[in-house]
Amino acid sequence: MTHAAADDRYDAMTYRRTGRSGLDLPAISLGLWHNFGDDVPLERQRDVLRRAFDLGITHFDLANNYGPPYGSAETNFGRHLRDDFRPYRDELVLSTKAGYDMWAGPYGQGGGGRKYVLASLDQSLRRMGVDYVDVFYSHRPDPTTPLEETMGALDTAVRSGRALYAGISSYSPQDTARAAAILADLGTPLLIHQPSYSMLNRWIETEGLLDTLADVGAGCIAFSPLAQGMLTDKYLSGIPEGSRASQGKSLSTDLLTEQTLAHVRALHGLAQERGQSLAQMALAWALRDPRVTSVLIGASSVAQLEQNVAALDRLDFSDDELARIDQHAVD
Ligand code: NDP
Repeated sequence: MTHAAADDRYDAMTYRRTGRSGLDLPAISLGLWHNFGDDVPLERQRDVLRRAFDLGITHFDLANNYGPPYGSAETNFGRHLRDDFRPYRDELVLSTKAGYDMWAGPYGQGGGGRKYVLASLDQSLRRMGVDYVDVFYSHRPDPTTPLEETMGALDTAVRSGRALYAGISSYSPQDTARAAAILADLGTPLLIHQPSYSMLNRWIETEGLLDTLADVGAGCIAFSPLAQGMLTDKYLSGIPEGSRASQGKSLSTDLLTEQTLAHVRALHGLAQERGQSLAQMALAWALRDPRVTSVLIGASSVAQLEQNVAALDRLDFSDDELARIDQHAVD
């Protein structure tokens, strides 16, 4: 049965304008990289999606290869969309990406070639059961393909109505500036960049990506703002059963060094002084720069989601707090 969405779903969430565009995004968006493949019961997925929407999260981020297996997050999301959210399509911003290996043969190996990028988008639309996505991304730079070709494919995606906006992910500041210029020439502005960013990974500050994005008028949606769970209380005393690090997936236990954990413990203490959980402080911190449009979280339970959205209750930082955080927010 269709989800009867909460009447107050827009009361608490904050929305931010994406660069120089007409699109607002929720300050906290939900990504389906993990927790929405065939390895997770559909009921749990449904509960997280329903709660997210009821909390004002209007943006769901996918990619062709999210699962496992590849493609299953889109297929499962399509099922939830059909069952629960069909009447709400115009309240949702859906994104997907192409860039990593997807199917057999030379045209399915990922990258930025026109044939792969557009075929992948068509597959994504079919899996999700939608006519268009709101944002279509080049998932990663492909140095073997002319940037003009990849940006041309994004432009075609928008012109043909399969996507409303174009985005790029994990491009360097230099490639971002070039990509934005090519897209501007084609008449399809670069809407947004999706980089990694957290207290343990500050490259978008140190390498100047945020400055570039401000220059070209694109927004920024930061992925893995909790460093895949490291910036929560989850790993403070070991590696819990069922956690991402315990599953040998994308979060290697090699990253949980004593040095990193010492920083995480110190940050946890600072969060407690602010009356927040570490996860909440990490999200508020990543949103402290207005050039960051949204933080893109993952959640394996409704409880995590609720805790994370409550970060918006306390976004302000004193100079002293920021200086103390700087001592431990190091990559
Ligand atoms: P996060 O850094 O938010 O990590 C999410 C994980 O942290 C959860 O699955 C959960 O792990 C743990 N967690 C979250 N909240 C809490 C909490 N309150 N307390 C304890 N643990 C918590 O983001 P992700 O790494 O999941 O990435 C988010 C999204 O970003 C992806 O879904 C995807 O859309 C996008 N992304 C894009 C990439 C790109 O190349 N463009 C690359 C990576 C991500 P657990 O399972 O252990 O409970």
